[in-house]
Amino acid sequence: MPQSLRSALTVIATALFALSQLFAQAQQAPKQENHGISVANMDRSVKPGDNFFLYCNGDWIKRTELPPDRARISVFSGLADLSDKRTAALIEETAKSNAPEGSSARKIADLYNSYMNEAAIESRGMAPIEPHLKAIAAIQNKKELAAALGETLRADVDALNNTNFHTSHLFGLWVAPGFNDSDHYAAYLLQGGVQLPDREYYVSDSEHMRDVRAKYQTHVSAMLKLAGFTDTDARAQRIIALEHAIAEKHLSLAENDDIHKANNTWTQADFAAKAPGLDWPEYFRGAGLSKQASFFVWQPTAFAGESALVASIPLDTWKDWLAYHLIEEYAPVLPKSFAEERYAFFGKTLTGAPQQRPRWQRGVVIVNRLLGDDVGQLYAKRYFSPEAKAQVEAMVANIIAAFRKRIDALSWMDPSTKAEAQAKLTTLYVGIGYPETWIDYSAYAVKADDAFGNIWRGSLFEYHRQVSRLGASVNRKEWSMDPQTVNAVNLPLQNALNFPAAVLQPPFFDPLAPAAANYGAIGSVIGHEISHTFDTEGSAFDSKGRVRNWWTPADLAHFEAAAAKLAAQYDNYKPFPDLSLNGKQTLAENIADVAGIAASYDGYRASLAGKPAPTQDGFSGDQQFFIAFGQNYASKNREAALRQQVAVDSHSPGEYRADTVRNIDAWYAAFDVKPGETLYLAPPARVRIW
Ligand SMILES: [Zn+2]
Repeated sequence: MPQSLRSALTVIATALFALSQLFAQAQQAPKQENHGISVANMDRSVKPGDNFFLYCNGDWIKRTELPPDRARISVFSGLADLSDKRTAALIEETAKSNAPEGSSARKIADLYNSYMNEAAIESRGMAPIEPHLKAIAAIQNKKELAAALGETLRADVDALNNTNFHTSHLFGLWVAPGFNDSDHYAAYLLQGGVQLPDREYYVSDSEHMRDVRAKYQTHVSAMLKLAGFTDTDARAQRIIALEHAIAEKHLSLAENDDIHKANNTWTQADFAAKAPGLDWPEYFRGAGLSKQASFFVWQPTAFAGESALVASIPLDTWKDWLAYHLIEEYAPVLPKSFAEERYAFFGKTLTGAPQQRPRWQRGVVIVNRLLGDDVGQLYAKRYFSPEAKAQVEAMVANIIAAFRKRIDALSWMDPSTKAEAQAKLTTLYVGIGYPETWIDYSAYAVKADDAFGNIWRGSLFEYHRQVSRLGASVNRKEWSMDPQTVNAVNLPLQNALNFPAAVLQPPFFDPLAPAAANYGAIGSVIGHEISHTFDTEGSAFDSKGRVRNWWTPADLAHFEAAAAKLAAQYDNYKPFPDLSLNGKQTLAENIADVAGIAASYDGYRASLAGKPAPTQDGFSGDQQFFIAFGQNYASKNREAALRQQVAVDSHSPGEYRADTVRNIDAWYAAFDVKPGETLYLAPPARVRIW
């Protein structure tokens, strides 16, 4: 989200099969030399009050080189690499076990091996995709086009949990508890239809974006040429003009975050009236959703605009668009020339990483995507002990208790608002390590040496699994993330949080580290996620996950005043002379950072129970707490990747997230920060929300 932690430190365009892009952004961590903070990573020649990020991470930044296959590296990337290696080892064990056909182990092995067998993929050439391209070529009219567009609908977007607003399909489906009835799963439809990460890439007039668009044109033409199309420059031009027209109808990322704009229930009949152009009954028939009575339409204006384009743009252009989008989506399992051309644009040009990640790592991502819970069961068993789980649960309890006290102590909040905030803490489900139930993949057919088919069927299996839940009772303890994923997530419609086992590892969490380091690192992250349940987005969902604003107008006015102050603080940060952060786009995340440190700090102090904190390398407990927080954000970026993050991510770049300690009073005391130092804020200028 707003709430997902992976995007916290990396920009991840999570389009289901935007694989090469994903790999370009996975990463490598600062080394963990000990238990607790890493003194070797610090640059103690920098004053903490001048640049806290460099003070915590400067020596690591100096001695760390960006590998050629990375657009950025960070603590997250290091953990993601570790998790990938562990997962790959688990997959290899299953591959060696010669498990019987149909078993979970056999599926894992066959899926991974089929992806890794590049010789088989090469020798099949275009054969696997050919029938699909022929079906597109055979489309005779707009009615058949509507059905074909419906057939491409996938469950590949997520508006509130893992927040992915991007799909290259015309629209995307998200199945989640209903806005107004959180006891049952509902269908949410989101805008889509473009390949570039966001509408900004099409409409921005900046030199960088103009350059990206010129290279995109070359890329689209090259992909079509590889697939045997003629007249590819002209086709590419028309496809991009169509995407540009679609992007112009899209809402921006900041607008997408506003759930009140998104709470629009449309019946099947409403689509033809409110968004004429597309043959909607045919679209829903193609999508297998003819029986679904109503949908939440997240961006009504985009639906009207995109539907009108289906009517106004010539059929042949739409057919080229469909064909190109299909080729792009499946490039990773087509002959190497496709994957390489795709990487040259989506990897090198968009993120700046000159080299693609090794294939085995991309294979691990595929297996996690399509059989994530099966692998997750193996992962959790091996890498997350019951003792570690209990230790994290105790931290969570302390942090929740800190929030309770902070809410009670607020002078500005109405008693009725406080009562609902406390009720939300009572019903909050905090999942630690792994889920209580697992996905059943028995209906997903995986075949040896059929990489294309395995991915095709996997995305359909997930789509059908999601569609089959529509109308069913909500399981509030359901997870939206695998245990082997290095991330954390807030699920507002379930009033729940997930902290997968893979993120509960050093340096975020180390069972052997001092409490100061664990609370500063993972504790602040836990506090960040909890605070989302009370922030502008959380205030829209009550203790049962229903959309019901439980704040009074006066509460909201106070909150917005504090929030505006924080937005202004971030508007002032400039990663490059020609580029400022967007304080509004990153506001919810920046608030959560401040709230998360504050609550975790209280939880940490409470955990000491009056005893003095042990020092480490001469650093006091409080100093360790803040340094551990700052070290969460150790990162290095290529310029293009950082620019992309500023454009599309709701999280601020790591440097500015680390520096947000300037809003916390205890940080000033811990490091003796004085007026005149760069990060110094006079007490009234510090933003306090909870
Ligand atoms: Zn967040």
